[in-house]
Amino acid sequence: MTDYEMVIGLEVHCELATQSKIFCGCTTKFGGAPNTHVCEVCSGMPGTLPTLNKKVVEFAVKTGLALNCEITRKNKFDRKNYFYPDLPKAYQISQLYLPICRNGHVDIDTSAGTKSIGIHEIHMEEDAGKLVHDEATGLTKVDFNRCGVPLLEIVSEPDFRSAEEVTAYLAKLRDTMQYLGVSDCKMQEGSMRADVNLSVRPRGSSEFGTRTEMKNIASFKAIERAIEYERERQIDLIEGGGKVIQETRRWDDEKEYTYAMRSKEDAQDYKYFPDPDLMPVFISEEYLEAVRSTLPELADQKRARYVNELGLTEYDAGIITADVALVRIFEDAGSECGSPKDAANWILTDLLKLFNDAGLSPEDKAFDGGKLGSIIKMVSEGKVNRKSGKKILTAVFDEDVDPQDYADKNGLAIVSDLSAVEPAIRKVIEDNPKAVGEYLAGNVKNVQFLIGQSMRELKGKADPKTVRDVLEKLLSELK
Ligand code: ADP
Ligand code: MG
Ligand code: ZN
Repeated sequence: MTDYEMVIGLEVHCELATQSKIFCGCTTKFGGAPNTHVCEVCSGMPGTLPTLNKKVVEFAVKTGLALNCEITRKNKFDRKNYFYPDLPKAYQISQLYLPICRNGHVDIDTSAGTKSIGIHEIHMEEDAGKLVHDEATGLTKVDFNRCGVPLLEIVSEPDFRSAEEVTAYLAKLRDTMQYLGVSDCKMQEGSMRADVNLSVRPRGSSEFGTRTEMKNIASFKAIERAIEYERERQIDLIEGGGKVIQETRRWDDEKEYTYAMRSKEDAQDYKYFPDPDLMPVFISEEYLEAVRSTLPELADQKRARYVNELGLTEYDAGIITADVALVRIFEDAGSECGSPKDAANWILTDLLKLFNDAGLSPEDKAFDGGKLGSIIKMVSEGKVNRKSGKKILTAVFDEDVDPQDYADKNGLAIVSDLSAVEPAIRKVIEDNPKAVGEYLAGNVKNVQFLIGQSMRELKGKADPKTVRDVLEKLLSELK
């Protein structure tokens, strides 16, 4: 049987995290009662005019720079015409001829090493509304709240050869946009959506096979499953003497198969033309430099700095920088306690376990890294022991308590007050005449046993060094 190679290109849509929509002042907030986040512009009333939201341009330029693109200094908007009930104007404002970014690339890490994926272009466009099928009445209703929410469409070159590369790329895009603060990229809420174009060809062939497109697959796992299924389907088809038809197919994640939605033959002709209501967007050198100067440190740079300057291991730095919410926690904790290495240890051993046990990821829950830093400081300064530190951390995680306050109220603070430590140690000396006798006779190893007994007497809440000092002082008085 022929050995086949898969070829994949992705079109990824990300909703931008601007306050208002791309061509009007309506809020972009997710949810809301149907048709409450709308005005005459985004609901497509005749005679209204769009006004471009500057923030959208800034976010597009930021993304383009971070993805190593050329920025199109004069870019413009085009109308993509099609009729569908969730699109009130019967056209979508998009960019076809002069998209804002082109010719970029993203480096991804895979098990076979680093690979560069080409970005063909990135363009700005508006989202459509949503159709809501009402089971009770059998009617379909339309909600225009999402109409006009700004989108970036990021179109890759057909550079992927495996599902692993696809998910590594999507994770990298998501991380980058989250670091930039331009999109929250939540696949589960639809703020990041991927269309997968896939073809197969005999390995070694230099021509591409005919591709199919699978639209809006809603999770990384589903994308992996869809790719595997579609690859098998196309190979079986070709091996059986058939031909792949260029068409759009829908992936059904429950039934685990793809089915044809429409073929290219009856695909729409969008009759694109330049939007006459919008001026071209001119991007000056100064503007470009101003945006460039606001670019934050991105995941790869951060990871290198954590390893080279903060002394973290590659592994630890990789886990932390893969999640922008974790980066914030780490940096806040590290600056509060002064020891990034300790902060990394606590995060990887204790904090991530709390998140895992709760079935949450750091982006789902507000956690104050500064409070973790306070706990680490309390432990390193000997004010509470490690075990109590973990207890405080759990309380911060569950109820966002104040660490010092919680330690005080729950009697977790270490007793370093000599007047409290001394009586307990005197009692241990009295209760253990044999060990004390042996110690005095020269068996100094017994001091360890006596420290242990004293710690137990003090319920673990004493500073071991204070205990040893007091014990040795009291024992020397017996000599
Ligand atoms: P269209 O305009 O029909 O959407 P594009 O040229 O914009 O086509 O390509 C859409 C996506 O499909 C791009 O990400 C591109 O990399 C990918 N692509 C193009 N040809 C192939 C192919 N033969 N196999 C897999 N992916 C492909
Ligand atoms: Mg396309
Ligand atoms: Zn509006």
